[in-house]
Amino acid sequence: MFFRKPIIIGNWKMNKNLDQALSLVKEIVTKDLDESVEKVICVPYLYVNEIRKILEKSDIEIGVQNMYFEKKGAFTGEISPTMLKSCGVKYVILGHSERRNIFKETDDLINKKVISALENDLIPILCCGETLNERKENKEKEVIENQIKKALLEVDREKISKIIIAYEPIWAIGTGAVASLEDAEDMCKYIRSILFKLYKDQANKVRIQYGGSVKQENIKDLMKQENIDGALVGGASLDVSFSKIINYKL
Ligand code: PEP
Repeated sequence: MFFRKPIIIGNWKMNKNLDQALSLVKEIVTKDLDESVEKVICVPYLYVNEIRKILEKSDIEIGVQNMYFEKKGAFTGEISPTMLKSCGVKYVILGHSERRNIFKETDDLINKKVISALENDLIPILCCGETLNERKENKEKEVIENQIKKALLEVDREKISKIIIAYEPIWAIGTGAVASLEDAEDMCKYIRSILFKLYKDQANKVRIQYGGSVKQENIKDLMKQENIDGALVGGASLDVSFSKIINYKL
């Protein structure tokens, strides 16, 4: 079996004021965290600089939850990959279902963002996932294949191993309804098979996460699945018990 370093990523979404954000990060860095797990916290843009200074004392990396694909220019309200790099950001969530559904981001836009992130030396965390109706109609694989192929259009073979893919069934995000272990593994395995078709053996290097109501109680079993290399964690990353999810092996 190919070794892929486990990666646990917190996605704070649009939560916390500055004081709350700083005190949570200060508390997390006091914890003994498993060094064999890669850890990232994706924070609101506004807090990047202050949080980065606190995280420097730890091995937790900083990420954000979105970006625009252009480097600069007349794009009011947007943040560019070069701005993120200049502030020490390393990871960026792209194509989260909330961006797709609420902000109407298309596969084409997400593809441009993935390419731009890679060109600018940022690690994209590419999200994909089906709705409940799509699953009820047994269309989940078709939906995921479509999202992955479109998001990765013209992404080079040499760069694919940098990408992290998060499989996040929309019906499991923020609902408490976690996918069964079998379904989560089946979908992550399917994503790897798509990557094999596109990138041959490079597919073994890509880390695939599960996301959707991950918590302390279910992380261990999820991480035992062969094709699940990590978790994207929303609600359960908002307090210090996130450290227990990171330490799922201990
Ligand atoms: C997410 O925000 O990507 C997510 C999976 O949220 P939650 O863990 O709250 O379901």
